[in-house]
Amino acid sequence: SISPSELTNACLQRAKNNSKYNAFITLTEPEARKQAEESSERFKNQKTLSELDGITIAMKDNFCTSGIRTTCAAKMLENFIPTYNATVYDRLSKAGTVLIGKCNLDQYAMGSGTIDSIYGPTKNVWGYSDDPNDFFIAGGSSGGCAVAVATGACFAAVGSDTGGSTRNPASYCGLVGLKPTYGLVSRLGLIPLVNSMDVPGILSRTVDDCVSVLNVIAGHDPKDSTSFTKPYRRIRLPPANKMSIKGLKIGLPVEYYCQDLSDEVLETWNWVAQLLEENGAVVKEVSLPHTEYSIVCYSILNQCEVASNMARYDGIEFGFRADENISTEKLYATSRSIGFNEVVRNRILTGNYFLLTRNYDKYFNKALKVRRLISSDFDKVWEDVQLLLTPTTLSTAPKYKDFVNKTNRDQCALQDYCTQPANMAGIPAVSIPIKLSNSGMPLSLQLMGRNLSEPMLLALAKYIE
Ligand code: GLN
Repeated sequence: SISPSELTNACLQRAKNNSKYNAFITLTEPEARKQAEESSERFKNQKTLSELDGITIAMKDNFCTSGIRTTCAAKMLENFIPTYNATVYDRLSKAGTVLIGKCNLDQYAMGSGTIDSIYGPTKNVWGYSDDPNDFFIAGGSSGGCAVAVATGACFAAVGSDTGGSTRNPASYCGLVGLKPTYGLVSRLGLIPLVNSMDVPGILSRTVDDCVSVLNVIAGHDPKDSTSFTKPYRRIRLPPANKMSIKGLKIGLPVEYYCQDLSDEVLETWNWVAQLLEENGAVVKEVSLPHTEYSIVCYSILNQCEVASNMARYDGIEFGFRADENISTEKLYATSRSIGFNEVVRNRILTGNYFLLTRNYDKYFNKALKVRRLISSDFDKVWEDVQLLLTPTTLSTAPKYKDFVNKTNRDQCALQDYCTQPANMAGIPAVSIPIKLSNSGMPLSLQLMGRNLSEPMLLALAKYIE
């Protein structure tokens, strides 16, 4: 077997050899070597910290890492070096894992393609072409994480998921992508997008790998008031051949048979549903009637929370400061107009508009009510079935040139259709790779379950995988 130091060297080499995909913003080489040496020492002394000791990981660059630059792919935080670790990273590092780098994302995780980064787009490994416009997108906003795992530069990566940002790139890159139950994994140190929906997500090659990471990062964090206080019970999945799905009730929500669903995704969905049925599951159509309002409702809530979250970037305490000395207001304005891209600025402006006293009820409060309806659709469906099987994305990964033609809003409307509702309700969801399309691109499906149903959700994911 190889030592953690050898493994780390190999992974760093992998990352460098694959730089054309642009998965990493920062390779944390010195830190990785140090962590790996310490881990190698522990192996020598037979004092390893966990089953993940010496295993390489990567983090999306919106998780604070002490002493390591954390940029959110924005000029605003280009030189930001946090003084503390996100709880998720803290736990991973205490379990002995080796951080090899910080991964590319859409600026502040606003997007679904990993194309809106000041470091340039991340490219999918599948169907790769050297033509700067003719590559397939990796999906997003955790696209860098997905490609880091897909190229074998690390064992697993931690992304974030507010509307689909972990599941979408997992789907396009042929990986497992888990969005855990809201509150199961601490958000401390995850730079917020929509506080009421953000969760750290896991991208890995297999469901077992995903479980190993979840078992390290999940559980109460006194520093995150939204994290569950109930003690976390480690998940242990049986071997797939020892599992039975006999009698398991699985729902296919009719609203997910939507207009833009590609034939191949539809066929894959039907095929897997049929296989599950043949193996003893009870598969039936169910309804989540408010699904179609999810995207527009999300868009309002997102922009309102963004308007509030982005207020901290004034160019004074931390972050980019423009060279401006006319007035404090001018300093704020210039720093922010240079520090944020158009998508971020747009969302701030729209959010502030929705939050005006005269608009508050009409938009923000209304959206909260719609959110409750979407959430209660799920509550009702759990009286009928235990899990839901749906597409993750409506098609395989689009090409960059076809994707950038659309506005950020339209991109999200299409990309997040199947993933967004789970964030509204806070429920866990996982994207699982199923097979390759005729053109050789990964096709994936999504499973959703009720709050804290991860053990069952991941067991079925493993069974399908
Ligand atoms: N596409 C959505 C957005 O841009 C969701 C992104 C995410 O999950 N972080 O807000």
